[in-house]
This record gives sequence, C-alpha cells and structure tokens, in this order.
Amino acid sequence: MDIAHLPRRSFLRGAAGLAVAGAAGLVLPNAARAATATAPRIYSCAEWGARPPADALTTLDHPANRILIHHIASANSTDFSLAHAFQVARDDQHDHIDNNGWSDTGQHFTVSRGGYRLEGRHGSLDALRGRTTMIQGAHCPGQNTNAIGIENEGLYTSVEPPETQFASLVVFCAYICRQYGIPVEEIKGHRDFYNTECPGDRLYAKLPQLRSEVAKALTSM
Ligand SMILES: [Zn+2]
Repeated sequence: MDIAHLPRRSFLRGAAGLAVAGAAGLVLPNAARAATATAPRIYSCAEWGARPPADALTTLDHPANRILIHHIASANSTDFSLAHAFQVARDDQHDHIDNNGWSDTGQHFTVSRGGYRLEGRHGSLDALRGRTTMIQGAHCPGQNTNAIGIENEGLYTSVEPPETQFASLVVFCAYICRQYGIPVEEIKGHRDFYNTECPGDRLYAKLPQLRSEVAKALTSM
C-alpha cells in the first residue's frame, strides 16, 4: 500500500508522541531512543537574512516520515562560500514568493554546492529540533504534509554534485532521519512522487549511495 494514501494526520494524532518508523508501520516511542543526535551546523532563516513569509505557515502536529531530495536546477556555481550560500537561499525565497506566489521558500532545507546547510521555510529548524512537528512545505504536491524537502543548489542532469555537497547532504539526512525516526529507505527523489526530472539523473542515481552512507552515519550518531 502506498503510505501516501493512508489517513496520516488522523493516524498520527492518535499516535501522539510516537515516531513512525517505516511504511510497514513499525512504531518506536521517542522516549526509547537515545539522546537527541548532535546537531550539524544548519544556518537559520534569520542568519541568511530571510524576509518574513508572505502568508501564515502551517505547523503540522506530527513528525515527518520521508525525505525528498531535489536539485534547484540552478547554475553549477564555483563559488563555494557561505556568502554565496546565503545568496542562493535569498534568491530561492524571492523566486518562490514572487514568481510562484507561495507563502515562503517551498523546501524545508537547502544544501549549497559548498556544503553549507540552510533552513528554507521558516520554522523548519525548530520543528526538526523538537522532533514532534513539521512545517507544511511546498516542494512536492501530495508530499508536503509528510515529507521534508531538501533542495540542493545546482543542476544534476549531466554532472554529479561536488563531493563536499554530497557529504554535507549525508550528514543532514542522517540528522533528519535520527530526529524524526525516518528509515533510510524513505529517502527518495522528487521524481519518485511527481512527474519531474528533479533531482536530475546524476543525483538521482546517487540516492542508493546516499541511503547507504546515511545508514552508516546513523550508526555513529
Ligand atoms: Zn524537486
């Protein structure tokens, strides 16, 4: 059964305080988990100079159960600086609000080509730290109330992401999986749930490697 067809909100409300670990319905109490993972550095909206959301955002009273990997389909910049990463985040937010008419940046998080991890949509970082809620996203129709969206700066149709960016994505996904109790098998590509070439053939081809490296990272968290 496609988990997306389950009545997730009502199901998860009934399972308050529990983290859903897998499409098979295995449920692990948060309390049974070890202490919260050491958090990697993630730059908040305030740090990169986000503008306020155009409309009120929705906080969902349940954890995320999937991660969707995207590419921004932006230029493959050779500027790997933090300042550039901040500019990418601001440009993306302007694009999503002004051109798409969305309330805020569509995705929850962004990874720059230089490997910097940034918050996308306001509130996503606090929700991740708290482990029991998520902010409704706007990164994939049908998945916005259950999947965390990560946009990777760049265009990966014919080239692979830089090693630094991929390594950063591994750390980021491991932390998100750990916080929300998401099994590595639920790290998917945008195209798995929507008619799009995103995240590009080359990044999509690396998703099995991403899952295995995240699984490895989780054993040491
Ligand atoms: Zn996408």
